[in-house]
Amino acid sequence: MINSVKDGQNARAGRPQLDGAMFDVVVLGAGVVGAATAYACASRGLSVALLDQRDGPALGASFANGAQLSYAYTDALGSLAIAKKLPALLLGADPLFKINMGFDPELALWGLKFLASCTDAQNRAGTLETLALALESRIALHSLLQSYPFDFGHRVAGKMHLYADPRALGAAAKMVDIKRAHGAVQHVLSAQEAISLEPALEQSKGLAGVVYSPEDEIGDPHLFAIGLIEVLKRKFDVSTFFSMEISGAKLGADEVQLSGAGGQSIVGKTLIVALGADAGAFLARLGVRAPILPMKGYSFTAPLGGNAPAISLTDTARKIVFCQLSGRMRIAGVAQLGSRDTDVDQALLARLIESARSSLQDAADYSQVDAGWAGLRPMTPSSTPIIARLRRRLIVNIGHGMLGWTLAMGSAERAAQLVMSNQTGEP
Ligand SMILES: Cc1cc2nc3c(=O)[nH]c(=O)nc-3n(C[C@H](O)[C@H](O)[C@H](O)COP(=O)(O)OP(=O)(O)OC[C@H]3O[C@@H](n4cnc5c(N)ncnc54)[C@H](O)[C@@H]3O)c2cc1C
Repeated sequence: MINSVKDGQNARAGRPQLDGAMFDVVVLGAGVVGAATAYACASRGLSVALLDQRDGPALGASFANGAQLSYAYTDALGSLAIAKKLPALLLGADPLFKINMGFDPELALWGLKFLASCTDAQNRAGTLETLALALESRIALHSLLQSYPFDFGHRVAGKMHLYADPRALGAAAKMVDIKRAHGAVQHVLSAQEAISLEPALEQSKGLAGVVYSPEDEIGDPHLFAIGLIEVLKRKFDVSTFFSMEISGAKLGADEVQLSGAGGQSIVGKTLIVALGADAGAFLARLGVRAPILPMKGYSFTAPLGGNAPAISLTDTARKIVFCQLSGRMRIAGVAQLGSRDTDVDQALLARLIESARSSLQDAADYSQVDAGWAGLRPMTPSSTPIIARLRRRLIVNIGHGMLGWTLAMGSAERAAQLVMSNQTGEP
């Protein structure tokens, strides 16, 4: 049964107890993707439980990411250019890129699929598929905020990708043309044009030009998840269960039963897995394979420097993002493919700080950097997420890689549409 919840009404009288409760949907994982999915389901009148092993929302990869809502820059990671660079990268040419070199069959299989995605045709297909989802996400976020405005440092900051190499800028310009034909708002600007829009770029050495995405936005993903969960509880009576690690699930014909590591059980008609980088291991326990590999990244936050950019900037050669978020500078980068821990390696953090300083020395006050943070991007080989019904009562919303914050709202809409077709018994 689908509860006929209207906005502002409670689905059920009182909050259900965990044991014995039956939900239309159980969303597993309360990162930005899971929280957005809970909203998309609840706003369709479904009774929803949202579960996470951590003691609050968005404490995994969603916590302190680069904060970019990168609606126009959806370029897939796999490309001929990166395939050519791989041997040098494996030999350590980029201090902020690493591949775990130990024996790891999962990494090897993923790597083969990734290499297969490095053709022009696959790169273009992945980029456009992600662009379509990003544009849906923008619409869905704006619609949410129109109904339920809340503060998470959200603004239309615009975004510039900086290129020092004219050939790389030329290649990016070709992709801009393709994406513009599919709805992306992006322009290629000369260095002078870019500096006139963002004077902080005067400190960028050897700038050849930029790709400018004026409609791209920013926001704090952790604050977003907290604010959204308030809406979910207040307006939709969504039940949230934190500090609950789910160790297994039984997929029955009519229901899904989840068991918590602490002995709890919870039952729903449909399970949506939104476990980020942990999705692959969890699904394997259900006999389902999903090619999700973690790619560890780092961020740090510091007071603004004397010449801080207001527009978000990505130094494409160094692969570092600079974002002015609520009066502070968030800087993110580093790609460690196959790393599964979230420890902050102090030497690597120091390298990221140094690299950011060499890129834009006055963007932040680098003498007052916070403790730093590391998170695991849930990568698919094609860079496109997997939003699919894999079993009758199992839907996955996983593999958002480098763009999970950008894509969360649109992915949630797609996952909720799959639930509705489940509920009405469509094949
Ligand atoms: C350094 C860095 C910078 C980034 N910058 C950007 C950016 O600027 N823009 C952008 O769009 N994206 C960015 N990303 C990517 C983005 O952060 C991720 O794609 C996104 O956060 C993934 O969200 P998620 O909800 O799928 O996963 P998560 O946020 O990781 O959520 C998964 C949740 O599942 C929970 N969980 C796991 N196992 C269990 C279990 N067994 N039982 C219960 N709960 C469980 C975890 O506790 C976690 O809360 C960045 C990522 C990194 C690391």
